[in-house]
Amino acid sequence: MDFEPVIGLEVHAQLLAKSKIFCPCSSAFGAGDNDNTCAVCTGMPGALPVLNKEVVELSILTGLALKCEIRENNVFSRKNYFYPDLPKGYQISQYDEPICVKGKVAFLVEGVETTVGITRAHMEEDAGKSTHHGNFSLVNLNRSSVPLLEIVSEPDLRNSKQAGEYLRNLRTILLYLGVCDGNMEEGSLRCDANVSVRPVGQKEFGTRVELKNINSFRFVEKAIDFEVGRQIDLIEHGQKITQETRLYDPDKNRTVSMRLKEEAHDYRYFPDPDLLPLKIDRLWVERVKTKLPELPLEKLRRFINQYQIPEYDAQILTQTRELSEFYENIVKKCVNGKAASNWVMGDLMRILNDQKKDISNSPVSADQIADLIKNIDGNQISGKIAKSIFEDIATGKYSREMSVGEIIKTNNLVQVTDTMAIEATIDKIIAANLAQVEQFRSGKDKIFGFFVGQVMKEMKGQGSPQIINDLLKKKLKGEA
Ligand code: ADP
Ligand code: MG
Ligand code: ZN
Repeated sequence: MDFEPVIGLEVHAQLLAKSKIFCPCSSAFGAGDNDNTCAVCTGMPGALPVLNKEVVELSILTGLALKCEIRENNVFSRKNYFYPDLPKGYQISQYDEPICVKGKVAFLVEGVETTVGITRAHMEEDAGKSTHHGNFSLVNLNRSSVPLLEIVSEPDLRNSKQAGEYLRNLRTILLYLGVCDGNMEEGSLRCDANVSVRPVGQKEFGTRVELKNINSFRFVEKAIDFEVGRQIDLIEHGQKITQETRLYDPDKNRTVSMRLKEEAHDYRYFPDPDLLPLKIDRLWVERVKTKLPELPLEKLRRFINQYQIPEYDAQILTQTRELSEFYENIVKKCVNGKAASNWVMGDLMRILNDQKKDISNSPVSADQIADLIKNIDGNQISGKIAKSIFEDIATGKYSREMSVGEIIKTNNLVQVTDTMAIEATIDKIIAANLAQVEQFRSGKDKIFGFFVGQVMKEMKGQGSPQIINDLLKKKLKGEA
C-alpha cells in the first residue's frame, strides 16, 4: 500500500519588541543570568501584567503579511501547566480569541506556486529556561515573558521538502517585516512539526505525532522523513499510531517519545482575570497596513517582469530584503537587469562568501557595480578590465567610496577602440605565429581563440573584444 504524509507546522517566532510582553524588562538575548527579570516575569504573587502595545502592533503587521483576518476581539487566557521554568504555573496565551485567523503563505517550489493555509496566529509569552548540570539544575528567567507569535499552519503540506520550503519562506517574510530575527540556533524561531500518514486516496487524516522544537531547516526535513518512515512501518506491521509528542535526536537521526499528547482540556484554559479583553479597531489595522513592505513573492514576480531576469535569479536576489535592495540600486543606475544580476550572483556573492561578510558591509558598493556595467555597455572598458577593477575594490586596493570613472581614468584603463591600433597589433601577432595561421586556414577553427588571447594579452586586456574578433576573422581568412 502507498502512503501519503500529511504535515502541519507550528512556528514560534520571537517578536522583536524591545521589552517583554507583560512587563518592561528587556527582551534581548544574551544578558547575564536572570538580569532581565522583575516581579512580573518571575511570577511573584500579586504582580500584575500590562500588555505591551508594540507586541500587538508587530502581530498585526505579521498577520496582514500572512493575509490573515485581524480579529477585533482578543482575549488572553491562562494555559495551566507545571514546569520548573514557569513560576506562575501557567503561561499567558491566546486560546479561543486569537489575533489572526484564516491566512495563507504562497511561495514557489521549483517554479510552481504552492499555497499553505494559516489556521491562526496568536500572541503568547515564552517560558524560562532550565539547564541541567549533573545532580542539580538551574533556572534562568530572562526568556520568561519574552513575546512570541505562534503561527499554526493548516495540515496542507505533503512532504518534508515542502515543509522545509514553507518554513524558509515564512522566515523570509518575518525578516522582510523586521518582526523577528529568524535565528533558529538562538531559538528566536522554533518549529514543531505535526506528522501523520494515510493510505493514498483516503480522505480522513491519520493520527498525528507532534515533533517538538527542531532547531534547523535541515533537521525539520530529516525529522519528518524519519517520522513518516516510522509511522508507515508501524502501520504495515498492523500496529496503531499513538498520538504523542516526540523529540528529534539529530545525532541518531530518529525521534523518541517524550510524552503522550495533552488535550486542550488538560490545560484548563480560562481568560486571565488580570488582563482586560483587547479590542483592535479597524483604524489601527489600517494604520499598520501602511507600514507593510513589498513581500518576497510580490517582489520576485516584479523583478522577473520589470528587469527581465530568469526566475532563478529573482529567487536568489529576493532571499533577503537587503540583497534585493542592493540589486535594485544597481539596476536603477545601469538599466541592465541581467548584467546586474550576474554581477551580484557571481562575483559579489563569491567575494562576500570568501570574506565572510554580508551585503550590508559589502566591500564594493552598488554604485560601483552599476558604473562597471555602464562602462562595459558603453564600450569604455572591456569585461575583463571591469573584473579586475572589481577585484581591486573588493580586496581593498580602492575604497568603496571611490568612483569607477576615476579608477579608469587614473589607471588609463579605457578600452582601445582605435581600429588602427588594433590592426597593428593583430598584424604583429599574425606575423609571429605563421604556423598557427596555417592550421587555422586548413580548417582548425579552434585555434581562433588562441589569436584572440594573444592580441588581448598584447593589448593588456584593453582592446575592444568586438573589434578584435571582427578584424581578426577577416585577417586570418585573408579578407583584409
Ligand atoms: P496543538 O497545540 O494541540 O498542537 P494546534 O492547533 O496548535 O494544536 O496545532 C495543530 C497542528 O497540527 C496544526 O499545524 C495542524 O495543521 C496540524 N495537524 C492537525 N491534524 C493533523 C494530522 N492529522 N496530521 C498532521 N498534522 C495535523
Ligand atoms: Mg502543538
Ligand atoms: Zn519582567
